[in-house]
Amino acid sequence: MLVCDCCFNDIEMQIEICNESSGAGVCDFCGQFSSVIDIEHFSDFFKGVLSLFELGNEGNTITDIVQNDWNLFVSNDVGKLILEYFLNKGGYGFSINDKVEYKSSIRNALSIWEELKKQVREEKRFFTSLSYFDDNKIIVPNTIIPKGTKLYRARVIPSGKHYLTKKEMGCPPKDKATAGRANPIGIPYLYLCIDEATTYYEVRALYLDMISIGIFEVKENLNILDFTSELSLYYAFNNASDSLDNILCKYKLLQLISRDLSKPLRRFDTELEYVPTQLICEYCKVRGIDGIKFYSSLHKGGVNVVLFNNDSAHCIKVKSKEINRVDISV
Ligand SMILES: [Zn+2]
Repeated sequence: MLVCDCCFNDIEMQIEICNESSGAGVCDFCGQFSSVIDIEHFSDFFKGVLSLFELGNEGNTITDIVQNDWNLFVSNDVGKLILEYFLNKGGYGFSINDKVEYKSSIRNALSIWEELKKQVREEKRFFTSLSYFDDNKIIVPNTIIPKGTKLYRARVIPSGKHYLTKKEMGCPPKDKATAGRANPIGIPYLYLCIDEATTYYEVRALYLDMISIGIFEVKENLNILDFTSELSLYYAFNNASDSLDNILCKYKLLQLISRDLSKPLRRFDTELEYVPTQLICEYCKVRGIDGIKFYSSLHKGGVNVVLFNNDSAHCIKVKSKEINRVDISV
């Protein structure tokens, strides 16, 4: 059976097919005329993927989960045909239309975040064990923000003032630092955005508010844990020294933490809500990580950066703007 590069969304798989193909032909799965190779080329990879799952009472079909979590295939229909091809070789305990879930060892590993959240909110806070994170090297820097990078931060100008100074654009003094998703009360971190537009949303400006936008420059190369980085399961399978189970657990755990970091602060939240993500940030700090990157929940596609050391970036320019349009939808 021949498979072509058009069958996959995963760039690594597309490249592999183009590199390995000895010519173009009609794909047995999607019907396109393109670079093709024998589907057996991916046999070990799909064996690994299918072995991550077991028959479940709830959940979705294997196609839905693989597509939703890893975006491997160009469409669910093509994904279903390819997964069915490998499933028919047998030995997995489920078929293409059955409901499946990640196998219990993976579900248990992923439940660690929920357990940790409950523990630090309700049981013990300051001497929580993070041994799973230690043992599996979950919290490690995965990108660098280079020296000289520009980042942005906005503040609403208080009434009676016309502008804010560079100094006023930094984080609040320790005695005025309230708790956030990343920082505990009294320990200010520098909250920035990678683009200016996201700051308008993050500052929660109202119609006709005047805001100042500070442009910050990073002083030195910073080691960052980037929660927005995407993983090609295929690339990881071929290049990581770890098992596919561990790769998947690490990646999905970071996604779970990231989802909590990105949750908007709500007016009636208690500060207990923030303790688990504050714990992760402090853990990053003690591990020598300079900051984190995660998606903004207030501006689609926007990315926030939190730097743990307020001196890692300095404000080089401030400009002021008036908010003249606000879109609200329910
Ligand atoms: Zn195809």
